[in-house]
Amino acid sequence: MALLEIRNLVKKFPVRRGFFNRVVGHVHAVNDVSFTVEAGQKVGLVGESGCGKSTLGKTLARLWEPTSGSIRYKNVEISKFSDAAMLPYRKEIQFIFQDPYGSLNPKMTVFSTLIEPYKVHNLVSNSREEQRKLIADLLETVGLPADSIDKYPHEFSGGQRQRIGIARAIATQPELIIADEPVSALDVSVQAQIVNLLDKLRDDQEVAFLFISHDLKVVHHFCEEIIVMYLGHIVEILSSEALYEDASHPYTKALLSAIPVDDPFNRVERQLLEGDVPSPIELPTGCPFHTRCPLAVQECREHKPSLRTISSGHHVACHFVEGEQATKIDIGAYDDEKVHKKAHKELSLAVEADAEEKALQVEIVEESGRAMGWGIAALFHVILSPYLLQSFPALGWLLYPMLLFPVMAIWKGLLTHDLVKARNTGEDWLPQANWSMGIGWACLISWTSEMMGLGHLWSLLGHLFGAL
Ligand code: SF4
Repeated sequence: MALLEIRNLVKKFPVRRGFFNRVVGHVHAVNDVSFTVEAGQKVGLVGESGCGKSTLGKTLARLWEPTSGSIRYKNVEISKFSDAAMLPYRKEIQFIFQDPYGSLNPKMTVFSTLIEPYKVHNLVSNSREEQRKLIADLLETVGLPADSIDKYPHEFSGGQRQRIGIARAIATQPELIIADEPVSALDVSVQAQIVNLLDKLRDDQEVAFLFISHDLKVVHHFCEEIIVMYLGHIVEILSSEALYEDASHPYTKALLSAIPVDDPFNRVERQLLEGDVPSPIELPTGCPFHTRCPLAVQECREHKPSLRTISSGHHVACHFVEGEQATKIDIGAYDDEKVHKKAHKELSLAVEADAEEKALQVEIVEESGRAMGWGIAALFHVILSPYLLQSFPALGWLLYPMLLFPVMAIWKGLLTHDLVKARNTGEDWLPQANWSMGIGWACLISWTSEMMGLGHLWSLLGHLFGAL
């Protein structure tokens, strides 16, 4: 029985546009993905930025709801579980986040951060002494000094913060750890330390890993099996041992050829992919890789290849993988500067947010922009209404339809809050939404005050301050 079994998993995010917030399309982040993770197995998920690997990891950890498909953990279908039903499984499935800065609460000490999982899962008594001993042992396991226990996240370097994140993940002795680019935000020297720490944990504890990374070399070093993703699809699954010899999909070969070689006398020819990754909002027909594949023919544009088994433990989604064509990729010769640029593009550090994250940001920015627009209109309502009533009393009725402004400002502000909460991104736009809601409420209070004969907001505030 597999520890984790994924079947036909799909994750889409709606793209909304226009005044009525209509859904005009979807970001197809994860498309019909199936694979398994055995107990204690180290599986690597590799692909370039925006290919959906982080979304897949978060969906498997049930941080995001899957759109469709099956997630079976120890033969239990968990894809539709509520937060409460997921709680016992959260102890067994833990997550290491990419960003060691954003994933720790800056107001909590290391002790408060690390004791939380124990308390949530009732794994520790109320004895303060026992709790501190537990955390001290945990810190030792991840190579942090014992005096770190009462410090705050800002007192640590990036590598040390990632160690705290790892300590939090292993606290409950999970059976599966999903590590989402755990080293990509760190300096190269610190990356090596964290990979060594994960190596040690991998060897010491019988825990399965789903290791997500854009760096094929790190994944090859750390994992037993490698899953290659492109545009939300799995294009190849193979054992780590077979990577250099047997990789068959043109995309995997391109990734392999982009790995820098640390021997200046060993000049490898590289296979460079032309063009950009297509938009995940409008997926290409046929093979998702055909727009950049040097082997693409008409059949590739029309028919999507399924993931086929070509040997034990080796699966490839390419029409020509068993034919001559797949093994005859002309990788050509290119000058060094071009090689560097392209290789960097293919396997660069993840400096851009994933494509789906970008679409979510756009959605939140648009909504908070609308809130702001209505808020400004409501502000005019507050400022102008006394002059309108005084100078043109006959036009006073106009204030009634203008009540739409504050109502819309509040509604759009609340919608922005909902989106930020549901999508777990875009907090930067909340002040704008709050400002609009504040103006909206001020406008409504002013209007109510006028209706009750207490005068305009300014007079109402005057009364209040006078009373104080
Ligand atoms: S199916 Fe065609 S386009 Fe897709 S990877 Fe194979 S050769 Fe390239």
